[in-house]
Amino acid sequence: MKVLGIETSCDETGIAVYDSDLGLQAHALFSQVDIHAEYGGVVPELASRDHVRRILPLIERVLNDADLAKCGIDAIAYTRGPGLIGALMVGASVAQALAFVLKVPTIGVHHMEGHLLAPMLEENPPAFPFVALLVSGGHTQLVAVKSIGDYELLGESVDDAAGEAFDKAAKMLGLGYPGGPVIAKLATQGTAGRYRFPRPMTDRPGLDFSFSGLKTYTLNTVMGAKDKDTFDLQTQADIAYAFQEAVVETLAIKCRRALKQVNMDTLVIAGGVSANIVLRKRLEAMATKLGAQVFYARPEFCTDNGAMIAYAGCQRLLAGQSDKLGIKPKPRWPMVELSRV
Ligand code: ATP
Ligand code: MG
Ligand code: FE
Repeated sequence: MKVLGIETSCDETGIAVYDSDLGLQAHALFSQVDIHAEYGGVVPELASRDHVRRILPLIERVLNDADLAKCGIDAIAYTRGPGLIGALMVGASVAQALAFVLKVPTIGVHHMEGHLLAPMLEENPPAFPFVALLVSGGHTQLVAVKSIGDYELLGESVDDAAGEAFDKAAKMLGLGYPGGPVIAKLATQGTAGRYRFPRPMTDRPGLDFSFSGLKTYTLNTVMGAKDKDTFDLQTQADIAYAFQEAVVETLAIKCRRALKQVNMDTLVIAGGVSANIVLRKRLEAMATKLGAQVFYARPEFCTDNGAMIAYAGCQRLLAGQSDKLGIKPKPRWPMVELSRV
């Protein structure tokens, strides 16, 4: 089965073709980072408009790369939610219109299930069951995954997501958007030990997270350095280092706790923040001590992409699921509402 995947939940237009027999055939992404960078975050209306501009040429390109005519598509998977309503509408409308013309089924995919399953596209995919750490721009969740659609939420952020914290900290440091990659890069020049940021909610039991306090801590540290006239490039790097350490260590502590709590030996990390090298290394070190293993996607499939949507949609289509005709994106959509496969 050849599935066209369409991702338009936020500021990336992602298109891919996944073949259930042959694997990923082609994928392409148009990132709107440059459009939103000057605002320091995603402007929803600009996002929708750009998806409209990009989506059809990108589909043409991916089909061309996959050496596939439109009539060779067996089904279309698109991101139904969660995400920005206008951006979701673009992907849903194109998917439904194309499917109507081609007389093929569609399936509306949960964006976070897409992220969660992205590591399945790698050569050495994880086996069920596993604990998943979803760390993206809008979510920080620990989920016990028994199979596709069998998700038990173990814990989540009570305020900001980890990726959001990276983005906001970067803004306070006067760095670009998105913040994750810039903070990670600058942190490599940072001095260990000059600053120490708190590890929120690690001193009490439980698997929930809180990252909004780190934002305040970052702001106070930046203001303090500016007051003393010591806010130079080295200080920026030292703050970036301390911030990243705090996030990484907090995530590692909670992942360890989750693995022990549910007695599993496989950890899957997914979402934009899972591209972070220091996080990957730290989780691998933690897992090795527990006799566990860590799995993640290649960096380009950690952030938003069409391949994960094509893959997740394909699994549900193979299990006999598909949508009824109609465009009903769900900007809010808790993953635990998903049905079992
Ligand atoms: P969601 O998936 O929750 O709807 P989103 O789609 O905006 O949110 P993703 O595309 O998965 O999120 O990830 C983007 C986030 O990942 C941004 O917050 C970005 O700063 C962060 N990020 C990307 N690369 C890195 C990195 N190397 N280190 C830390 N954070 C990173
Ligand atoms: Mg994005
Ligand atoms: Fe995402």
